[in-house]
Amino acid sequence: MKQQLEGMLAAARTALAGADAEAALQDVRVRFLGRKGELTALMKEMGALPPEERPAMGALVNRVKEEIEASFAARLAALREEEIGRRLVAERIDVTLPGRIHGGGSKHPITLVREEIVEIFSSLGFGVEEGPEIEKDFYNFEALNMPKDHPARDMQDTFYISDEVVLRTHTSPVQIRTMLQHQPPVRVIAPGTVYRRDSDITHSPMFHQIEGFLVDHRVTFGDLKGVLTSFISQFFGQGVAVRFRPSFFPFTEPSAEVDIQCVICGGKGCRVCKNSGWLEILGSGMIDPEVFKSVGYDPEVYTGFAFGMGLERVAMLKYGVSDLRLFFENDHRFLRQF
Ligand SMILES: [Zn+2]
Repeated sequence: MKQQLEGMLAAARTALAGADAEAALQDVRVRFLGRKGELTALMKEMGALPPEERPAMGALVNRVKEEIEASFAARLAALREEEIGRRLVAERIDVTLPGRIHGGGSKHPITLVREEIVEIFSSLGFGVEEGPEIEKDFYNFEALNMPKDHPARDMQDTFYISDEVVLRTHTSPVQIRTMLQHQPPVRVIAPGTVYRRDSDITHSPMFHQIEGFLVDHRVTFGDLKGVLTSFISQFFGQGVAVRFRPSFFPFTEPSAEVDIQCVICGGKGCRVCKNSGWLEILGSGMIDPEVFKSVGYDPEVYTGFAFGMGLERVAMLKYGVSDLRLFFENDHRFLRQF
């Protein structure tokens, strides 16, 4: 029986050493130490031994049992160590590798000029207002001194949704909406999308404008010139020459178009300025008393000025872009440059 026990211990050690996974190791343990295992079976035979041999044999059984347990524990620890080693190799991360670079987006040039213009006027005390792109005829035309039969309506190739509803042709209806809600003094800048039936190299059926207006006591044309001249020197740079040219708009009187010295040729004359040396960048004027009447301001008490410009146009001049359509094509090669 002693030899059987020695043989069993040797067999258990060999089997444990050969087990290459935790599950196999557990199987070996059960095979020898389990309730129906080999050592248990042998212990049951001890009853047949002479009484004087039993204590020594009992001690031997215990020793074999302890040694198998110890071998099992050692092998289990070794297997777990190996597993950790394998995972460390397999899941190794080289922290010195360069990171994956996610291409950062950039702002659209129209957004860039809009933000810059808003910032300049904010610094002059103007607040920002917005209005709907689908607009009532009243706000887009009538309240701006363009009744139904007014010839100036023909200048704006309007998208009509119905007789009374249009896609707004300019940001000027925001003036009306703002003045109907607020009493003077008002100082507002209104950027937005506008629509006209027009499409060629310099026109898009959808484009962007920014509108500004100021109403208070004793506002003069001199204030208009001061504000716009200050804006132009901040936006296009100090020293750019500016001129005001008489013009006509139904909602301002007197009206002026504002030109800057050609930023391409510096005033010498080129293709962009059609050899005039000047570029038109915005329309402006003193708000017509008829407009004040339609919003309930007293024209005897208040005066004000308004101006508007196309964002595509100023973006073309600021960045030297020659074709308006580039702004709407979403070509990454173009947009990445900003
Ligand atoms: Zn020029």
